Amino acid sequence: MQTIKAWGAPAAGKPLEAMTIVRREPRPNDIVIDILFCGVCHSDIHQARDEWTGGVFPMVPGHEIVGRVTRVGSEVKKLAVGDLAGVGCMVDSCRACAPCGDGLEQFCEKGNAPTYNGTEMDRKTITYGGYAKEIVVDERYALRVPAGLEPAGVAPLLCAGVTTYSPLRQFGCKAGDRVGVVGLGGLGHMAVKLAASMGAHVTVLSTSEDKATDARRLGATDFAVTKDPATFKKLAGKLDLIIDSVSAPHDYNAYLGLLRPRGAMVLVGAPPGASALHPFSLIMGGRRLAGSLIGGIAETQEMLDHCAKHGIVSDIEIIPMQQINEAYERVLKSDVRYRFVIDMATVR
Ligand SMILES: [Zn+2]
Ligand SMILES: [Zn+2]
Repeated sequence: MQTIKAWGAPAAGKPLEAMTIVRREPRPNDIVIDILFCGVCHSDIHQARDEWTGGVFPMVPGHEIVGRVTRVGSEVKKLAVGDLAGVGCMVDSCRACAPCGDGLEQFCEKGNAPTYNGTEMDRKTITYGGYAKEIVVDERYALRVPAGLEPAGVAPLLCAGVTTYSPLRQFGCKAGDRVGVVGLGGLGHMAVKLAASMGAHVTVLSTSEDKATDARRLGATDFAVTKDPATFKKLAGKLDLIIDSVSAPHDYNAYLGLLRPRGAMVLVGAPPGASALHPFSLIMGGRRLAGSLIGGIAETQEMLDHCAKHGIVSDIEIIPMQQINEAYERVLKSDVRYRFVIDMATVR
């Protein structure tokens, strides 16, 4: 066992503070990662404040982890000391169920081992995330970070990147497709970059006019303000695929009307509560409404390799660990373009 410096919430809703955690000694298939950067995901805030209830405290959040491999177990093959490695939203799964066999470890029938706020597959050992100096993880659940990408900008790819990459791939996004991205935050800005890299014609749909310049800089061809009812007339039936990243309540029926026949809208943002869905919003035009949750390990690696090929990283603002509580408040006000990333060298 090794004692590691970390930052976390000592109890539900309490500000994050310096603490120490214990990590296991590496097993034969484990790697030890010296964490360089960790992204700040909106779900870190929900969990540290126990807004989804059942949180495990003290809690060390963080599932957008990039660092340098410092030690490897005797059986490790994929990574070597000195390599850049990443860890996303899970650190293990049962490896035996049908979803695990299909590379959909995020839907493991036994419930995977989340990177934090949960347990290892022994269902006893508490997991702690990336707001820490080191993590020990089975290489099977670690990712190779390709050379040539700025490591700090890679961190958010491990959650926000794969969350938007996966639905674009699932629905066959290709050159010339017309893709709508609803909401231009941490998820939305990655959806724009990734869809544009696949050759799609991207339209950003946002409540705030002031994001138009950014949308185009990120790769969008068009921008539409959703507060203007004319937007929904102008774009009716025009889009092949919509990635909806908005987590505030909004009318799905209105957005489904923007799809061409057999087009699909995929939810990656999760507003609280139920939404009214009119059957004819789907029946007319044979439209599809789907959801998507991160991606499996193989798909996450595919996403990183795609990003390396296209030179894609997240747009980030680097913060010292000591500013994490202010950063949380700013995320809640959407006052970040587009992801905070913690420089773990600031934890001493
Ligand atoms: Zn996340
Ligand atoms: Zn499984």
